[in-house]
Amino acid sequence: MTRVHDAVRRSSERLASAGSDAPVLEARILVEKALDRPRVWVYQHGEATLDRDQLRRLEGLVERRQDGEPLAYILGSREFYGRTFQVDPRVLVPRQDTETLVVLALAFTREVGMVCSRPGDDRPLRIVDVGTGSGILGISMALELPAARVVLSDRSPEALAVARLNCQQHGVGRRVSLVQGDLLSWMAGPVDLIVANLPYVPSQEIDRLQPEVRREPRVALDGGPDGLDLYRRLFAEAPALLDARGAIFVEIGEAQGVAAGGLAREHFPGSRVAVHPDLEGRDRVVAVTPRRE
Ligand code: GLN
Repeated sequence: MTRVHDAVRRSSERLASAGSDAPVLEARILVEKALDRPRVWVYQHGEATLDRDQLRRLEGLVERRQDGEPLAYILGSREFYGRTFQVDPRVLVPRQDTETLVVLALAFTREVGMVCSRPGDDRPLRIVDVGTGSGILGISMALELPAARVVLSDRSPEALAVARLNCQQHGVGRRVSLVQGDLLSWMAGPVDLIVANLPYVPSQEIDRLQPEVRREPRVALDGGPDGLDLYRRLFAEAPALLDARGAIFVEIGEAQGVAAGGLAREHFPGSRVAVHPDLEGRDRVVAVTPRRE
């Protein structure tokens, strides 16, 4: 007879020897998944017993994790900015670092009074999330800014299918639409806010990343020789489409602050360009905002 606490302990030992950074937490989550119980259930039910089916399910889950599959793919979801999003191998796993971008973009809209329509101008705020993947950035913005209209775009139809599931899950309705296309090439009119977490890992570095990162779609990671190929194109396309009072927030790698900031300045010489750190103090977001008068 296997009790819940024994199952957690044994699973965590196996995950630890497979190199997990958080083996106990992961074991607890996998036991809850195998038993189809809510989070933190394990804490109150350490003495409960697992039947043979549950043990078999747990075994399968632990094996997948030992084999390097990201936990978010095994669970089919990940939390981002306080909400749960569906994820699977068609999209990048949402990272906590990316919440920094949401915080900064929302702070900008509040600072300049962009939360609803502008004074004397009753159209909704227009936001584009370029390279949306699972949709986390654009959907979070839409939910935080109820008067905004958001377009989620991606060149990958597979990723857009996941973004669509998340739109349904979060009930964003017609305020959020999806477009398949390359960067901003599909766009005609002006936009107030561009947010993007494009692939930015230098091609040669991808094979040196942790094995679980290599399970993620390569097209969501590979940013070319210096990692900035896509941002180079985005910053070249954006000036023709960004409203004069608009702003851009993009996620970058920690070593790319100077180079990516320089690219942004080159294409937006009249704007303010700032590089912001994430919670661990690493360069993470480039912001292009209008210069204050
Ligand atoms: N933050 C991811 C990583 O370092 C990269 C995400 C991206 O390329 N946009 O694995």
